[in-house]
Amino acid sequence: DILGARRNSAGLNLSNEHDLKTIKTAFARIKPVNGNGLPVRNPADHEDVVGYVTYAEKGEVEAAFAAAAKGGPAWAALGAAKRGEILRRAGDIMEERLPDLLGLIIREAGKSTHNAIAEVREAIDFLRYYADEARDDAAPLGTVVCISPWNFPLAIFTGQVSAALAAGNAVVCKPAEETPLIATEGVRILHEAGVPADVLRLVIGDGPVGAALVGHKDTHGVVFTGSVEVAQLIQKQLADKLLPDGRPVPLIAETGGQNAMIVDSSALTEQVVADVLTSAFDSAGQRCSALRILCLQEDVADHTLTMVKGGLDELALANPQFLATDIGPVITAEARDRINGHIEAMKAKGHKVTQLDLPAEAGKGTFVAPTIIELNSVSELAGEVFGPVLHVVRFKRSAMDKLIGEINALGYGLTFGLHTRIDETIREVTERIEVGNVYINRNIIGAVVGVQPFGGHGLSGTGPKAGGPLYMRRMVLDAPVLKGGKPSK
Ligand code: NAD
Repeated sequence: DILGARRNSAGLNLSNEHDLKTIKTAFARIKPVNGNGLPVRNPADHEDVVGYVTYAEKGEVEAAFAAAAKGGPAWAALGAAKRGEILRRAGDIMEERLPDLLGLIIREAGKSTHNAIAEVREAIDFLRYYADEARDDAAPLGTVVCISPWNFPLAIFTGQVSAALAAGNAVVCKPAEETPLIATEGVRILHEAGVPADVLRLVIGDGPVGAALVGHKDTHGVVFTGSVEVAQLIQKQLADKLLPDGRPVPLIAETGGQNAMIVDSSALTEQVVADVLTSAFDSAGQRCSALRILCLQEDVADHTLTMVKGGLDELALANPQFLATDIGPVITAEARDRINGHIEAMKAKGHKVTQLDLPAEAGKGTFVAPTIIELNSVSELAGEVFGPVLHVVRFKRSAMDKLIGEINALGYGLTFGLHTRIDETIREVTERIEVGNVYINRNIIGAVVGVQPFGGHGLSGTGPKAGGPLYMRRMVLDAPVLKGGKPSK
């Protein structure tokens, strides 16, 4: 039961009464809202308004930095143990609020229930991990700006903010404009746990608001997760910016990936199929770690691909308000059109394309049919396709070296998967592949906080990996400040 196994590995147990009750409570709380400002809409059904926000004006940005400057010193002086205690308390509150948080993630980001549960768990893990990692032996930078993406609207946001806070910094944070409400809830929880309002300030807005934060004279460090393009803009904006002691303002940037998996003829097909479906299509493929290019050894390619397509056929593409939904919508109409544009372009070039049908209610939301595109070589793919699209390439065992060279040449090495039962192949491939995180004989996932720190290679990012001990060390003054960084390539 491939699909059953997937659900279990995602941590959701539908026969467990506690999990089921949690989920039912989450949906019971879904209520229409009234308000002013810009509506935040549910990507599965754009008629459902999740809440309203207004973007920050200049005065609000100034007020946030002034508050941070005022509150920062006392927070730094509080000591690591106390700060850790507060962050741990925030983790406990998040655990208690799981139903509310789930409901919001599902409606605001369009995630399936099992992906939303995994996300809240990751956010809690980040809080507890950085609480444990907090140290007294280094001076904080001052005010750190955290800018996060919509695709992990709680986990990445919480990871960035909690690391900066644990290190003793004040934080001005800006979540993605697509998902401001879940971040607002995250900040409310941190304040409730004891982080003073001045020390953690939320600023709502889009790209220009983010640029105003990065460019502010009192910004002493920037933590960014999002696209390569924006990372490069931020890097440029920071190029001449110095800390009071004359060193460059540090930037941690985590960006996209062009992630591959190699499957040789010794691999266990059932395991491969389950892992491929999860890695490529969870969260509708809108994960930086998602599998984009499946490389199948020629002698098992037909058989494996037939099985993958069979598995794809069984996935439930639907509104995530239904518990059984495997794949929900993509985040916006622009994202949908961009992904469909790529699929159409590949069809026009003559590539074989296999797609699931769209559900009847798809018209109300921004759904993309999960798609498999067969390529002749890895190098036919340009740029990151951030959606439910898996590319498949066949290779001869004698050409493994060339294949690895082509994957490396994409320059976006964030995650990489390998399925083989031959030790020598594991050695051969892992020695040559240029990538941040490698997954052997399992599905490609993102961060496993405190166990497997997460971060990329090449265009995928600059700076230490999230969920690992070095990440927080970049947010203190005595850390080595690495100049420049890979995204400028
Ligand atoms: P994005 O780059 O469009 O936006 C990210 C954030 O940057 C948003 O908050 C946005 O408002 C802000 N922003 C936009 N322009 C800005 C500017 N000029 N200055 C400052 N801030 C600005 O990315 P997205 O669409 O929200 O997220 C998807 C991307 O994130 C994908 O490329 C994905 O691979 C990447 N990602 C990477 C990781 C990782 O850990 N490596 C994790 C998740 C997502």
